[in-house]
Amino acid sequence: MDDRMFRNAMGKFATGVTVLTTEVDGKVHGMTANAFMSVSLNPKLVLISIGENAKMHDKVRQSKKYAVSFLNGNQEEVSRQFAGQLQEEREANFESFNGMPVIRDSLGVLTCNVVAEHQAGDHTLFIGEVSDINLKEDEPLVFYQGKYRELTS
Ligand code: FAD
Repeated sequence: MDDRMFRNAMGKFATGVTVLTTEVDGKVHGMTANAFMSVSLNPKLVLISIGENAKMHDKVRQSKKYAVSFLNGNQEEVSRQFAGQLQEEREANFESFNGMPVIRDSLGVLTCNVVAEHQAGDHTLFIGEVSDINLKEDEPLVFYQGKYRELTS
């Protein structure tokens, strides 16, 4: 099976869009990710998958914590920014929640402490225990077949 077939298949699975954030030596780093899932209710665990070549990979390894911001329907530009897809560098619109940087105005934010890491092919799965949650009423940004979408009803 070729890479294109695999990518096409994964693109058929609609997801929300998150920005992962962490802080190392006082410097904040963010990265767009849709490989996020809920894992366990008791204890409250979530999972993110980060490519081994992403800068975020080593940052989370060092900090042992991360925050997840669920983007709202108006935050497509934010997704592009943290995927490195904008022409120019832009200042990030962070705010602090539970001592962690998160994306301002996002639909929901979670702060997590890494409790396990599993190498899986060219990615690492970081399981995080959720330490706090903040939610807002808004519509999500949706990613499907390589394009951003809006939720209709
Ligand atoms: P960089 O590429 O250096 O950083 C990304 C960009 O974030 C920078 O260009 C900069 O503009 C911005 N940025 C970071 N920190 C700051 C800051 N403090 N202030 C201002 N701007 C800042 N990859 C995965 O590994 N797992 C996934 O689940 C995943 N899902 C994705 C989903 C979508 C919809 C998209 C579009 C991409 C996804 N990617 C995923 C790819 C990933 O977002 C990119 O490869 C990203 O560029 C990797 O970031 P990096 O950590 O290497 O850092």
